[in-house]
Amino acid sequence: MKFKVCTCWDDGVVNDIRLAGLFRKYGAKATFNLNPGLLKEERTESRWADPLHDGWACRGFCTGKLALRDVPEVYAGFELASHCWRHENAGSIPDADWIKAALDARHWLEDVAQKPCLGFAWPCGISTPGTVAALRAAGFAYGRSTKTADDVLRDNPEPMTLKSNCHFQDTRRFWSCYKAARESGGVFYFWGHSYEMMDYDRFWEQMENALRYIAEDPDAEWIDVVDAARLVSARNAGAAAGA
Ligand SMILES: [Zn+2]
Repeated sequence: MKFKVCTCWDDGVVNDIRLAGLFRKYGAKATFNLNPGLLKEERTESRWADPLHDGWACRGFCTGKLALRDVPEVYAGFELASHCWRHENAGSIPDADWIKAALDARHWLEDVAQKPCLGFAWPCGISTPGTVAALRAAGFAYGRSTKTADDVLRDNPEPMTLKSNCHFQDTRRFWSCYKAARESGGVFYFWGHSYEMMDYDRFWEQMENALRYIAEDPDAEWIDVVDAARLVSARNAGAAAGA
């Protein structure tokens, strides 16, 4: 049975260059959730942290950030979505300022993409009732949370806090949810940060093996996350109409 696969990746980091190359090699669609306000004029390279002097790092890996001018080329052919202007967490600033940060990122990305960018990913997965309402009122198609659903189409009553199936490194859920979506003709949706693969070739091989497997699966069809969210909304509308 034909089924859909989609994926999205957060924060606009240098490792996205390598990841986008893999997606292109295997014909995968992907959405990148970016914070333009955190990107600078110059790229910063990734490096392993000096534990005495560095601040935040992913298991000791300090991820490099792309430059603003890298965005059009690195993400050519992929979907771009707002992850707030400077990764502002919902509830950490007044809601009016927060939705402006969400929209400022969207408008900047729409200028680059020259098309609507209606996706959103919640910084740190945090949402509040007020910001959920603001996101909906601003016309976003969805807001990806960090919560998980066993069945993306069935278990997403609120697309403004959209659940995926799993984080990409939760390999048990990755393949069990993949098989379940395959059997139901549903949607398989995974997400992550490319810096979580650091510069460990084993992690990159694991990702490449998964992409090759999906590419060779005659029933799998890549879609964009925004289109998965539209399937969710259509299903919810149908369920409400049938209730
Ligand atoms: Zn983030």
